[in-house]
Amino acid sequence: MEGPISIARYMEACLTHPEFGYYLTRDPLGAKGDFITAPEISQMFGEMVGLWVIDCWQKMGRPVPVQLVELGPGRGTLMVDIVRTLKISPGLKTAVQIHLVEASPVLAVSQANNLEAEWHPNFSSVPGGPFILIANEFFDALPIHQFQRTKAGWKEIFVGLRNAGFATELAAPGSTLDRLSGKLQNNALPGQFAEIAPSALDLCETIGARIKADGGVALIIDYGYTEDGYGETLQAVRNHQFYGVFDDPGQADLTAHVNFAALKRSLSVAGAAVWGPTTQGEFLKRMGIEKRAERLSGDASPKQKKEIAAALHRLTAVPAMGRLFRVLAASRLAMGQPLGFDRDDDA
Ligand code: SAH
Repeated sequence: MEGPISIARYMEACLTHPEFGYYLTRDPLGAKGDFITAPEISQMFGEMVGLWVIDCWQKMGRPVPVQLVELGPGRGTLMVDIVRTLKISPGLKTAVQIHLVEASPVLAVSQANNLEAEWHPNFSSVPGGPFILIANEFFDALPIHQFQRTKAGWKEIFVGLRNAGFATELAAPGSTLDRLSGKLQNNALPGQFAEIAPSALDLCETIGARIKADGGVALIIDYGYTEDGYGETLQAVRNHQFYGVFDDPGQADLTAHVNFAALKRSLSVAGAAVWGPTTQGEFLKRMGIEKRAERLSGDASPKQKKEIAAALHRLTAVPAMGRLFRVLAASRLAMGQPLGFDRDDDA
């Protein structure tokens, strides 16, 4: 690569470069890896998503077949828990065709050990027809551009080489600046940062258009913010700790907080109805996770009881994952409000 490059190209190279990319060279999940995700914490997470899938399928008018799509399935744990839950809805269990969108051959192998599915490099290659799409901690991995307002107007942050290491520099912004909301563009004060994730927005437009054309629903779970705002959220995590964003490229996970307000706009512009976002804690409680924890605890040993209580706390409590993590849904308006959401959410 010839520098300097945008933050988006840097992120993309670090995460998904065919030879050196972080996700292509390892399984980053779990206690021995770099980070842990909700489905890896407890089966209860996937079970609640499974119930959500069943409810949506019924509200969609029970289409057969129905494509069950997951973006960035990691080890496949979430999908395995969803599929197990579908056995309480036999009609759906036989109607689903599973499609996994995965960039990492290493993770695709783990998924293939646990699931019968078709694999795709991106959502556009998933065959048409009614679908139910799930994405947990996928959108945070999509590349962002970063901008800074200066006295001389907007500049974009680029990454270049300095003293054999990577360093940032400001230069004239690329055209993606135009996708920043007008309000943010116009009201920024010198020094303020703004971020934009063009591939996340494009993907939401594609998903929204498919919802409108084919009928479908999408559930997006991630950490992020609910209103457009200024700031800088690019972060690296390695071995369960924050790490330097420019240290050892390709050896640490790189993510940015998801702008849910922007995702909502892209989904609605394409013609989908959007619900939420609500917090992960609220969503899981509305889906009945507390009852499920009680049920599981009923047959459990004292040690398992403790583990179930700890997992429930971690998934739903503030300030654990319960608040920073948000859940957003999109559907056809005619389907009505999916389970887990409330008219008053929108915050
Ligand atoms: N959803 C899983 C894993 C989250 S990690 C869980 O909750 O445990 C992010 C996942 O997205 C990994 O499977 C990673 O390989 C995949 N991924 C990241 N960027 C991608 C891209 N651009 N295209 C397809 N998959 C991608």
